[in-house]
Amino acid sequence: MMLSGNRIIPDEEVHISPLDRGYYFGDGIYEVFCIYDGALFEKEAHFQRLLRSASEVRIALPYPTERLEELLGELIAANGMDTGLVYVQITRCAAPRSHPFPLNAEAVVTGWCTEYQRPLDQLENGITAVLLEDIRWHRCDIKTLNLLPNVLLKQEAMDRGANDAIFHRGDTVTESSSSNVMMVKDGVLWTHPADNHILHGITRAVTLKLAGQLQIPVKEQFYTVDDLRAADEIFLTSTGAELTPVVKLDGQPVGAGVPGPIIRRLQQAYVARLPGSSSR
Ligand code: PLP
Repeated sequence: MMLSGNRIIPDEEVHISPLDRGYYFGDGIYEVFCIYDGALFEKEAHFQRLLRSASEVRIALPYPTERLEELLGELIAANGMDTGLVYVQITRCAAPRSHPFPLNAEAVVTGWCTEYQRPLDQLENGITAVLLEDIRWHRCDIKTLNLLPNVLLKQEAMDRGANDAIFHRGDTVTESSSSNVMMVKDGVLWTHPADNHILHGITRAVTLKLAGQLQIPVKEQFYTVDDLRAADEIFLTSTGAELTPVVKLDGQPVGAGVPGPIIRRLQQAYVARLPGSSSR
């Protein structure tokens, strides 16, 4: 069952026009939620970001987020989902191809959920990454459908035998293909400031809050490719990947080549916040 407009309907009954601006312009936004114990995790932050993305690209939501929340609850129940992901997409409208916003645009809402298990192996053992130039536009803070640069860079990282790419814009490390990046040097946690060059990740914000509670000093400041290469620990944060250690960068071990002590403390604190954490 899927969300289409204002209804939860069977997948085969969802009809999207080839004239949907999401297809030919990528003119739309999206949001991804985790479901634990059948409930949306960090839902207020996700709805708030969805509203902000919509407002930044001037898409009017067809109904309030309270109604969307209700519909997502129905979607989760209709699919009998316990642990998984929910994807919601809102495009400007379907209309003949022409750049200006059409008059009386009616936003098109679709959504679906899928089973998703926590990536336990990667959380435990870490992943590998390569540094690649950030070729995206200057509004990475908006969660738009325009993910082609992210797709190309992720594929390039994988073609080079790594799990993911860490992006740098010039000398400055920004984020990853679908997660934020953090590094630890001399006990201090560094991450790119939440400006227009990164997505303002919800897991990033939670991690920074946890770091505060654990009295780990934080610098939301720019740092360079050389700083990253000299880091003691590196990790990625995202809704699905949680806090994933990076143990190799461009083929070289990060720190001791195994997940370090600060990421371990933060991972523990993060898991403790998950619903049903005692069984996770
Ligand atoms: N950065 C990018 C480019 C992303 O696509 C994502 C998630 O999809 C994130 C960061 C992490 O955001 P969040 O923690 O809200 O999932």
